[in-house]
Amino acid sequence: MNPIMPTIPLDAPGKHHGFLRLPYSRNDSAWGSVMIPITVIANGTGPTALLTGGNHGDEYEGPIALQQLAWDLEPDNISGRVIIAPYLNYPAFRAGTRVSPIDQVNMNRCFPGRPDGTVTQKIAHYFDSVLVPMADVVLDYHSGGKTLDFLPYAAAHYLDDPDQQAACVAAMRAFGAPWSMMMREIDAVGMFDTAVESQGKVFVTTELGGGGTATAASSRIAIRGARNVLRHAGILSGAVEADQTRMLDMPGDDCFHFTTRDGLLHPLVDLGEDVAEGQALAQIWPADRTGLAPVEIRANRDGILAARHFPGLVQMGDCLAVIAVA
Ligand code: CA
Repeated sequence: MNPIMPTIPLDAPGKHHGFLRLPYSRNDSAWGSVMIPITVIANGTGPTALLTGGNHGDEYEGPIALQQLAWDLEPDNISGRVIIAPYLNYPAFRAGTRVSPIDQVNMNRCFPGRPDGTVTQKIAHYFDSVLVPMADVVLDYHSGGKTLDFLPYAAAHYLDDPDQQAACVAAMRAFGAPWSMMMREIDAVGMFDTAVESQGKVFVTTELGGGGTATAASSRIAIRGARNVLRHAGILSGAVEADQTRMLDMPGDDCFHFTTRDGLLHPLVDLGEDVAEGQALAQIWPADRTGLAPVEIRANRDGILAARHFPGLVQMGDCLAVIAVA
């Protein structure tokens, strides 16, 4: 039995703002709680959408879009139910960190979670066992956080069930980001994505920017995307407002480029630029001396630069670049 208790009804008509209250006994509060903000808006009959941000605590487009939506959306606007959780890993969001400062757990590697686990594992378990089963469609926002930057895209995964995959791709296209990605994961075990998809749901994720902040443009994409997904699902009335989205694919593990030394990152290609196989994507200069040649990171394949390491210093093993194919 998961210890989280919602402070608002999850199935009542109207608009309710409250919290998922997770008991968290600790030195500075013996009977304290983690209070995870949640809004539920419901009216009449229709599908349920679960909208989540802050799965990683240093990614901001999702939280911005979902605060806006929780503020703007009224029961009269919808048929069905919208469950909004802008700060999924709330302790990480408050700390501005990717993983939780309480248990150092990466929310997006701990699904399906544990009812008797750490704080992050308990939150994951509540979403996996209570909120995801209520949902027909799930939108989970990501961005690059402090260490990555992305072309703004919505994404779907290749799935065993072709009908489910087609439904996810249609919802991804409805989101209406400038780019739409058939996404390959480095490490899919424990991801929210995998957990939601395994329950047969329509799932859309995003990568909308990065560097540990949001821009005006990325925020606009995020807000419009949520509304579009709700319209596509038949929950929000009105037509999907999408410009032409450009499709991208990550056809193999050679899309990823990892550094094999530490140093100073000298980018040679920016996001969105075309690259050819063998072209130098970046140079890594020594961090400790002059007079040594830089190490060059060369493209494994033709394509477009879809993601890059954001900080100016790199560590051996960092993912430096992702090349996607149009
Ligand atoms: Ca992320």
